[in-house]
Amino acid sequence: MAAARAPDAPVITVHVPLGDRAYDIFVGRGLLGEAGARIAALGARAAAIVTDSNVGALYGGALADALQQRGLRASIITVAPGEATKSYASLETVCDAVLEARIERGDLVIALGGGVVGDLAGFAAAVARRGVRFVQVPTSLLSQVDSSVGGKTGINSRHGKNLVGAFHQPSLVLADTALLDTLPIREMRAGYAEVVKYGLIDDAGFFDWCEANWQGVFAGGPERNEAVAQSCRAKAAVVVRDEREEGDRALLNLGHTFGHALERITRYDSARLVHGEGVAIGMCLAFRFSAFLGLCSADDATRVERHLVTVGLPTRLQDVPGGFGTVDELLDGMAQDKKVKAGALTFILARGIGQSFVAHGIEIAKVRAFLNHEIA
Ligand code: NAD
Ligand code: MG
Repeated sequence: MAAARAPDAPVITVHVPLGDRAYDIFVGRGLLGEAGARIAALGARAAAIVTDSNVGALYGGALADALQQRGLRASIITVAPGEATKSYASLETVCDAVLEARIERGDLVIALGGGVVGDLAGFAAAVARRGVRFVQVPTSLLSQVDSSVGGKTGINSRHGKNLVGAFHQPSLVLADTALLDTLPIREMRAGYAEVVKYGLIDDAGFFDWCEANWQGVFAGGPERNEAVAQSCRAKAAVVVRDEREEGDRALLNLGHTFGHALERITRYDSARLVHGEGVAIGMCLAFRFSAFLGLCSADDATRVERHLVTVGLPTRLQDVPGGFGTVDELLDGMAQDKKVKAGALTFILARGIGQSFVAHGIEIAKVRAFLNHEIA
């Protein structure tokens, strides 16, 4: 059972103003205990909770109870944990279970879990009955600061990650930061890489704040709520400017071109590398590449790396367990990235901390020279 929220514990609200798709994100410790009231306010009669077996065992019963106490009919659909669950097979299972639970157009699908559950359940909600409303109850740091905000949902195809999906905004996001107390430390660190990313993109003051307050974020103090809320504000601002990723939503990919290549090389084997670890290495590479190109100071690149090392994240190609392959494999991995246009690479580069920009048409030869320099 989740502990009831202390009456004086503050809840931070982040509003995402998307016209008729606008919604609120609530951030605070103990929100799960009062999820019934907040979800019942959406006016549904029934809810299907989609969760994975790790998270379901910890929090599924508490959420179902909270809903039933408010008169909602609640059912739980449990999937296996892990990236492999973002599949056609799981989509079929979840859609059929949603229909079996008699979820109607006015009802809800609730994603209770990390980004895997959020992406899968969100996509099922987008397509079941041609679209039912859904609520995100993100339980990993990554999902609280990134995947639960913005409306991208989907599954993986044999052609690549996240290639089949839909934009489907949630009706509500409840980020209960107390749930992160049970998150494995490695997943916590990986999610934290995405928190730091928001500072590096366009908010140097937030990066300073992270350097000063990261211990509170990990320990679960009020700093954790602040970090989650600030990340949601930052992501929401980008999403509101560019809901369907036609323009500067690409800035959110800072560190991801290198990161995705590393994930590909390590075959998405989470024993070797999880997404946020790839992003941590990727952000350091993006800053060092920027310094290599004379765009930003070497001091800024060093400062980024120092902070990520301090929290225990990998920062170098040499940190990848089992090796990162060769420079050619890395370049191949990047060339497969969907951000590649007409042979030239698109990178998010930086003129300094908080001064990132989209750089199109970066020549492969420059990337190769930089990578050779990195591993020399
Ligand atoms: P995940 O969903 O696999 O969760 C990580 C692990 O932590 C899982 O084993 C899970 O069972 C466990 N877990 C989650 N919450 C827990 C808790 N409170 N206590 C104990 N264990 C817990 O991974 P993730 O990092 O949350 O999400 C990664 C996924 O998110 C990827 O598939 C990625 O593509 C996707 N993503 C989507 C978007 C988007 O905009 N839609 C953005 C970023 C990432
Ligand atoms: Mg990411």
